[in-house]
Amino acid sequence: MTEPLKPDADQPMSVDERLALDKFEPDEEPFIVVATDVCRTCVTKPCLYVCPSQVYRLDKGELVYNTDGCIELGACGIVCRHLGKGAIRWNYPRGGRGVEYRFG
Ligand code: SF4
Repeated sequence: MTEPLKPDADQPMSVDERLALDKFEPDEEPFIVVATDVCRTCVTKPCLYVCPSQVYRLDKGELVYNTDGCIELGACGIVCRHLGKGAIRWNYPRGGRGVEYRFG
């Protein structure tokens, strides 16, 4: 198994560089489910801006999401404007799946 390159401790790393060090084991079961019909009523869509992994994005004005790079921060659920209406159903991936952090 090839070890990832060690970062240069003298150089600050960007968020993207840090995320690229993480390892992911996908979960076939959806651990985040978004009721995108509810999202149509969400004016500010803060989930688009809070997620460093860019799980959420707009496609032709509609909210779409992809949990493949999710780092299980949970920030999307915290900022969701319509969590009480069931806009996001958030769980951790099943055991042994999901993100494995490296260097931090
Ligand atoms: S914040 Fe919640 S309701 Fe608003 S777009 Fe994101 S997931 Fe949908």
